[in-house]
Amino acid sequence: MVAKECLFCKIVTGDIPADVVYSDDDVLAFRDINPRAPIHVLVIPKEHLDSLASVADEHRDLMGHIMLVAREIAKDEGLGPSGYRTVINVGVDGGQTVQHLHLHLLGGRALRWPPG
Ligand code: AMP
Ligand code: ZN
Repeated sequence: MVAKECLFCKIVTGDIPADVVYSDDDVLAFRDINPRAPIHVLVIPKEHLDSLASVADEHRDLMGHIMLVAREIAKDEGLGPSGYRTVINVGVDGGQTVQHLHLHLLGGRALRWPPG
């Protein structure tokens, strides 16, 4: 299911262009338009889910798949030896600005912890 006014659903349907790095039946990954690191990729379910808070037991396989896709992209982008970070922002305090579940994959520089 796609949500009509959702930015990332429009990327899934191709109505808005994106620099896609991976796609399969269930998952899409594309480069963040405002990268916070030399490598910044978003991994999303093609199905519209508002956020991690909307994920249910039926999405167990999907969520595992998203993690494994992130790992493969990290490897393909050459981040294996140096390491990287995956982040899912949830809700207002989490800093989520796009209401379609997405996992950030960030790497290519040393990342500070904790985030601000
Ligand atoms: P978040 O703040 O966790 O909701 O992350 C949303 C991310 O989507 C931000 O890092 C934005 O830079 C990114 N973003 C917004 N619009 C686009 C777009 N059209 N293509 C790619 N990334 C986008
Ligand atoms: Zn959506």
